[in-house]
Amino acid sequence: MVKEKHDMELRPNPRTGRYRLISANWKMNFNHLEAIQATQKLSFVLRPADYSYTEISIHPPFTDLRPLQLLIDSDRMRFSLGAQNCHFEPHGAFTGEVSAPMLSRLNVTYVIVGHSERRQHFFETDDIVRAKVEAVFHSQMTPIICVGETFDERQRGETERILQTQVDSAVSFLSPELAERCVVAYEPVWAIGRGASANPDDAQQGAATVRSVFESRWGKAVASKVRIQYGGSVNPANAADFMQLDDVDGLLVGTAALDPESFARIIQA
Ligand code: PEP
Repeated sequence: MVKEKHDMELRPNPRTGRYRLISANWKMNFNHLEAIQATQKLSFVLRPADYSYTEISIHPPFTDLRPLQLLIDSDRMRFSLGAQNCHFEPHGAFTGEVSAPMLSRLNVTYVIVGHSERRQHFFETDDIVRAKVEAVFHSQMTPIICVGETFDERQRGETERILQTQVDSAVSFLSPELAERCVVAYEPVWAIGRGASANPDDAQQGAATVRSVFESRWGKAVASKVRIQYGGSVNPANAADFMQLDDVDGLLVGTAALDPESFARIIQA
């Protein structure tokens, strides 16, 4: 059974029936003291109603997970704890790695898998991403599977094929029950950390392609439950444009999530 941690007061989007999810990917930023401060500030600036429309997950570096777990639990904050990565094996001789069962013990709900920075700098292949998806589900957590084309691939007109390949490889082995629980982040690689996001039409097209992969394998009922995020230079000024799209159910936010006030404005948008 995958952990379901939806806040009792969280309301699904009436248009789609899906729960919105906005995630802060802090990347390699904030030591544990800074992480506590940022989380406290975010909790301070958000209004109670902000949690009713959107689930919010925070993905700090590994060293911040335990302090944030304690903070969230003790102050009854309505954040879901997330990780940025995990190893696909449950334990063993993998120096420097952290496994899915270790994250699960820290009450982690979501694990980002296959972020483009990991594919690029740490040579994660589609096969590794697939193994991590399996490991995350095996430990009763939910993967946020990152997919997206590079600038060159877009220029060559390969966006659709790349998205189909990345998504299908990551999820094809899943049962329909697990497939519908996936979160996929469509993150065009050229839009990450650049300050220049995709335009909403491109984001919708990418998200629709992601959903179509689930539909081809498992049919409409499963595909209509999968949550899809857009990621890539989201900020308070453009967040609402993405959240209105038919196939976009949330956002994966990097740079703008490092400032609690700006992340709160994204949630409120
Ligand atoms: C990310 O790293 O997932 C991301 C979307 O970063 P940014 O918001 O900085 O583009």
